[in-house]
Amino acid sequence: MSTSQSATATVQANIPVSLRLSRPAINAQRLNDTLQLSCQWGSTPDGGMNRLALNDDDARVRRWYIEECQKVGCQVTVDAMGNIFAVRPGKNQGPPIAMGSHLDTQPTGGRYDGILGCLAALEVLRACHEAGYLTNHPLAAIVWTNEEGARFIPSMLGSAVWAGVKSLEFGQSRVDEGGVSVREELERHSFLGVRASSHQEIPLKAHFELHIEQGPILDTAAHPVAVVTGVQAFRWFEIKLQGRGSHAGTTPMHLRHNPLTAFCEMALSADQLAIQFGGLATIGRVGSLAAQSTNCILDDIVFHLDIRHHDDDKMDQLEAAVRVSFAQIAEKTLGVRLASWEALTASKGVQFDPLAVDCVRNACKAYPKQEIISGAGHDSVNTSKHCPTAMIFIRCKDGISHHPSEYSTREDIAVGGSVLLDAVCRYDSTV
Ligand SMILES: [Zn+2]
Repeated sequence: MSTSQSATATVQANIPVSLRLSRPAINAQRLNDTLQLSCQWGSTPDGGMNRLALNDDDARVRRWYIEECQKVGCQVTVDAMGNIFAVRPGKNQGPPIAMGSHLDTQPTGGRYDGILGCLAALEVLRACHEAGYLTNHPLAAIVWTNEEGARFIPSMLGSAVWAGVKSLEFGQSRVDEGGVSVREELERHSFLGVRASSHQEIPLKAHFELHIEQGPILDTAAHPVAVVTGVQAFRWFEIKLQGRGSHAGTTPMHLRHNPLTAFCEMALSADQLAIQFGGLATIGRVGSLAAQSTNCILDDIVFHLDIRHHDDDKMDQLEAAVRVSFAQIAEKTLGVRLASWEALTASKGVQFDPLAVDCVRNACKAYPKQEIISGAGHDSVNTSKHCPTAMIFIRCKDGISHHPSEYSTREDIAVGGSVLLDAVCRYDSTV
């Protein structure tokens, strides 16, 4: 046997029998068309999406998604948080290898964040069904409830309850700005499942998530796809500054108790400290509890601070520095105090599973090498606590996300779908 013959024989021997039979392939046209079709529920005139978790449009797309999964032989389970598990049987019994993401969006969201991951999972199931391809392990598509946290705070709520990070009681009792709870909405839409929302009740063999990058790294590098090796840590806080409202015309500048002045300094300080520590700081929500008027000094300011870092120790240092700085600013601002500082949610940095990441890495081999630590939190952070997890990113135009102009090309979507299918099949044949 020549050297090249023996090399070929070795490669063949390494490919499991199941992979040598009619290997499934992604139908790029169908994936793209179905993704756009699913955006009929919640689309906005500017081309974006407004499909807040568990609103009527979210319920419609969920029902449609379940039907599509059932058409390709899936058994569907909905848990007590409304998380959807569509499972296609494999040769063996046992927990499924899952492909999960979310269908809810920001109020000014785009058509790809989360939606891509769910629709690519459906396409993988369709491709397997069409090819008559049976994986060793069952395969699952998962729709996690309220990933965005735009309607019900905090984000990644459905997967957090499944992972035991939050209790069911906590998850179901979250309310939106109108006082409507998660549980009420689950009941109204008949998505209050009887199965416990728990990684013990519904275990997973692994979790793969395809997602748009939501940042500019891939677009800048002109690379279509990336291996995601982990997720950076983040913490959210709600901070209240108490001053004293008074008349804009009669209160001299040097006698004002103006919380807005302190707030502006804090916003600048947060920016500077984030740069200093190599992290990120964002104030994305700001308002006042008191009624506002053009000729009144504000009584109070309430704002949300989001800080992130890929290193947990540096994250501690960044938070400590921000706390010291904000306290100093409040102290030197006449009549203004830091009335409260509430931690809303926190997530530690995550390193994804080496084997699952390796499957993604090998599935990406045809493309330029690109590895990323995710800047955004994802449901995969929660699944990684209980099963091997990995993520795939595809490029999005100008790195824009959470905005109607969020966009990924049809070609990149096809690449993402193919890499997801390949990575899942590789994992299936390895474990
Ligand atoms: Zn997302």
